[in-house]
Amino acid sequence: MSETTLRITEIFHSLQGESSTVGLPTVFVRLTGCPLRCQYCDTEYAFHGGEIQTLDKVLETVVGFGARYVTVTGGEPLAQKSCFPLLTALCDKGYTVSLETSGALPIENVDSRVIKVLDLKTPGSGEVSRNLYENIQYLQPQDEVKFVICDRQDYQWAQMKIDELALNEKVNNVLLSPSYGQQDAAELAEWILQDGLAVRFQVQLHKLLWKDEAGH
Ligand code: SF4
Repeated sequence: MSETTLRITEIFHSLQGESSTVGLPTVFVRLTGCPLRCQYCDTEYAFHGGEIQTLDKVLETVVGFGARYVTVTGGEPLAQKSCFPLLTALCDKGYTVSLETSGALPIENVDSRVIKVLDLKTPGSGEVSRNLYENIQYLQPQDEVKFVICDRQDYQWAQMKIDELALNEKVNNVLLSPSYGQQDAAELAEWILQDGLAVRFQVQLHKLLWKDEAGH
């Protein structure tokens, strides 16, 4: 049997910038490649290149940081088949593991111990047609659904989807983020308060701290 390998853009230790574990020291494993092209993408450097590494080498690097939380991200990590055994191996090692995924690829076979942070792409992203709604049935309570909001139309679309898909009955956290440099954060916060929307508002901590530098 051939050895499991992954194409890796970077592995680094930072503070979680998003989701309900925001602020926690976390190791990020960024897999190379993404089949989407969201207009606001801030990780275009992960579309190409990267380095082929064995699963064992990736695990060794993660262990070296001594953190408890690991986030597997991209690009779109599920575009690589070896992402599935990577997630399982990290869970087996006792890490709290989360997966950031675009929502465009099937999550059905992701290890059930993983916290899936699933995007639903809004019209403003330019990739709304890529949402794979079959994924919704595989969400577990510990998972999170994230909307990046580019404008008022996106906000109203998200509101509609939260209702239509009964997202608050499926997961404990529905996240709304303003698209950086496109949607005013305070304005989005006001809309959420006015409507009493049952969501968690978030701004990206790593953008506040480190702007767009790779490795954070
Ligand atoms: S899914 Fe994520 S990595 Fe891919 S283009 Fe969209 S924002 Fe960028």
